[in-house]
Amino acid sequence: MRPIGLYLHIPFCQQKCLYCDFCSFPGRAGDYHRYLKALKQELRQRWNPCWQIATIYIGGGTPTVLPPSALADLLQEIRTVAQVQPEAEVTVEANPGTVDGAGLAQLRAAGVNRLSLGVQSGHDRFLKVLGRGHTTADVETTVALARQVGFANLSLDLIYGLPGETPDDWGQTLQWATALQPNHLSCYGLQVEAGTPLYIMVQEGRVRLPSEDEVSAMFLANTQILPAAGYEQYEISNFVRRVRASEATSGDYRCRHNLIYWQYQDYLGLGLAAASTLAGRRWVNLNDLDAYLSALNAGRMPTALTETLTPQQEMVEMLMLGFRLTTGPDPVAFKRRWGVSLDEVLGERVKPLLSGGFLQKAAGTYQLTPRGMLVSNQVLTQLLFPLL
Ligand code: SF4
Repeated sequence: MRPIGLYLHIPFCQQKCLYCDFCSFPGRAGDYHRYLKALKQELRQRWNPCWQIATIYIGGGTPTVLPPSALADLLQEIRTVAQVQPEAEVTVEANPGTVDGAGLAQLRAAGVNRLSLGVQSGHDRFLKVLGRGHTTADVETTVALARQVGFANLSLDLIYGLPGETPDDWGQTLQWATALQPNHLSCYGLQVEAGTPLYIMVQEGRVRLPSEDEVSAMFLANTQILPAAGYEQYEISNFVRRVRASEATSGDYRCRHNLIYWQYQDYLGLGLAAASTLAGRRWVNLNDLDAYLSALNAGRMPTALTETLTPQQEMVEMLMLGFRLTTGPDPVAFKRRWGVSLDEVLGERVKPLLSGGFLQKAAGTYQLTPRGMLVSNQVLTQLLFPLL
């Protein structure tokens, strides 16, 4: 049995946020039923009995715009078709205010053991600028309700570098978020994607983005404020609450599903625009809802693009993802997979990066320093590009 991660994409939202270029649509409630039927069909078509599910991640979009009973039914279908490890991590993404206590209880009873909330900011004025449909009060209510129904594993997603945001504002968001005591925090820098309403607002000068220096200060605040509040960074953008010895839990609250991506392990993605990587083969699904539904209706795979990676591409990919982790690429897994050591592959290129303070050597591997994380794209290009 080969353990894999399973991702399911729910492309529906209550409204479209102004910065969003994900594959998601507001409205279209009339398509929910057909889409879920197609998703189940895709699962049955793609499933290989040699696989065993280690993690399930239902993301979007906003999965919680669907009735909780529909999500419970989807999970039930997965357990019918596939073998799911008894201790599997099962995450559902939710937006604050889109699910009430009864709905959260239904998800918990259906086996969801991790809730990832799209919070984004601890300031209502920035939530408004982003076009989010919730307030900070909604976040506090949803967190309290989730705890009441037994969700011990809560993650909050935050975004920094918002229009008009200062490093002080961001620091306040971090203080507010850590006071809610989630087990996990994801802190991403805002990407203003061409074609979004926010992009146009920036182009027209209607909003002002923070300077590069301010955004760097916000990133560095993550690596200072969060550890001081009891969170440990384990990936460039992800932090986990350190479990105190006095707590009656041995939980490791790092996101096991995302660790599958970063450790270059196999995952199957189902649904609109979902990507899969299995044994060096990668494919991406269609991103047009009607085309996706028609393909599955006709018994065809809804694949838009397939590629088989060369060994060099796979090695570079494994390193790129491994460097995102604060522990760096796993030197033992690397040697086992490729028959050569990290040192042999990276050669002399590490030297200027070590002396420049962008990389450090520890535990037989190389790790990005906070300075290196700030310019990770440039560092990794310098380090890995010659391998291709
Ligand atoms: S809730 Fe998420 S997926 Fe939906 S529109 Fe907003 S950013 Fe996009």
